[in-house]
Amino acid sequence: MKTIPFWTDLTPPPDNLSSPRIPEAVDVVVIGAGYSGLNTAIVLAKNGASVAVMEKHTIGWGASSRNGGLATTGMKRSISAIIKRYGEELGRIFWQSSLDAVDLIEDLVNKEGVECDYARSGSLALAWKPAHYEQMVAKAKWMDDKLGHKVTLVPKADLRSEIGTDAFYGATVDEASAGLDPAKYVFELARVAVRCGAVICEHSPVTKIVKQTGGFMVHTNQGAVSAKEVVVATNGYTDKLVPQLKPRIFPVGSYIIVTEPLSPALQQELSPRQRMIYDSKWFLNYFRLTADGRMLFGGRNDLSTNLDLVESSQRLREQMLFVYPQLRDIPITHSWTGQLGITFDLMPHIGTVDGIHYVFGYGGHGVPIATYMGTEMGLLLTGQKTSSPFVDIPHQTMFFYRNNPWFLPLAATYYRTLDMLT
Ligand SMILES: Cc1cc2nc3c(=O)[nH]c(=O)nc-3n(C[C@H](O)[C@H](O)[C@H](O)COP(=O)(O)OP(=O)(O)OC[C@H]3O[C@@H](n4cnc5c(N)ncnc54)[C@H](O)[C@@H]3O)c2cc1C
Repeated sequence: MKTIPFWTDLTPPPDNLSSPRIPEAVDVVVIGAGYSGLNTAIVLAKNGASVAVMEKHTIGWGASSRNGGLATTGMKRSISAIIKRYGEELGRIFWQSSLDAVDLIEDLVNKEGVECDYARSGSLALAWKPAHYEQMVAKAKWMDDKLGHKVTLVPKADLRSEIGTDAFYGATVDEASAGLDPAKYVFELARVAVRCGAVICEHSPVTKIVKQTGGFMVHTNQGAVSAKEVVVATNGYTDKLVPQLKPRIFPVGSYIIVTEPLSPALQQELSPRQRMIYDSKWFLNYFRLTADGRMLFGGRNDLSTNLDLVESSQRLREQMLFVYPQLRDIPITHSWTGQLGITFDLMPHIGTVDGIHYVFGYGGHGVPIATYMGTEMGLLLTGQKTSSPFVDIPHQTMFFYRNNPWFLPLAATYYRTLDMLT
């Protein structure tokens, strides 16, 4: 078993997109070459701005090349909680953004020729307990009444039409969700950004941002570039570069394994409709077939970012075999991890501190939402949009968190207890 991401093992980062040198001056420096940063860069470059994207490692090195590739509707915070907190009008706008986010990926596929095994395959949300299915029935009606969004209920008796297991108590299908190969997607975004005129500088960690007349001097270990505007798009890898940002987001680990390719008959049995699948636990599992017919199985029962990858693969394998005992004799080929960025209100945010812009906070929904938010950031900077609800909502911080997310083990125990009790 390899302890590296499967996606980049299969499709390594492109070696012909990074600029050999850092430009002297640009309109905008974007920090982080993931979905957020690259989508920001695409919008800016298309509108004639000069843009340099600084990436500490290689293109897409962060969560954008490591994730499960599930592009599901909704956000980390449930839509009912969003409506409760922000009211119906704003709640509907946030919900619509999550639908638009998947459409935006589809547009990139269709209009920019982004080849990433994208398919509008729908998602399957599975009830872990009988009570969860009852909640799903009520939520489906609520979604239809309040948002006009239809999901299909799948009672336990019909589950085998969707999934090759009897481990769950029913499900809902959302046909608006999609799936893709995350690494191919981020590499293709980089290609589009460069085609539009953006410069990408790999192995160029930004070490310091200094204010100067008319903008900033952005220092990297490869040299400095002056910029009128700076956008931080580092999500789960946000460090103390801009100290005021650290308390606004904290990193959480997510872990994934994949199996060897499965026979077509076994693929058909496990996931006949190739859905993007997740369950209803607090510490949920997410899983799907890959384009080459492997089972990808992700999750966590801890929030830490540094679990041993052999140990985490054993835990995930146990969870996978609980769902799919059919996979007992199938070897695991890869085990890896990456960092999600979580905000205290579980909402994505766009903001500005000391004149430096930031865009982050997607939880496990960043495939579509980071695409949307990066685009939104670009539209705001180019004046094509003058306001955004993601700017307007207050960005909650907590007095007890400045640098070290010491509270994560406590939170993990809390969520494990909730999984037992609710
Ligand atoms: C294991 C895992 C599974 C996931 N599964 C899903 C899923 O199935 N569906 C879904 O919607 N979401 C999923 N997510 C979340 C999703 O991947 C992220 O929300 C999304 O990729 C965030 O994109 P981003 O561009 O904001 O950040 P990232 O892709 O994390 O990019 C941030 C980049 O910033 C760079 N950086 C940091 N500091 C500096 C610096 N000082 N100078 C230069 N560069 C810097 C990093 O090297 C990194 O490449 C998953 C995440 C993980 C980790």
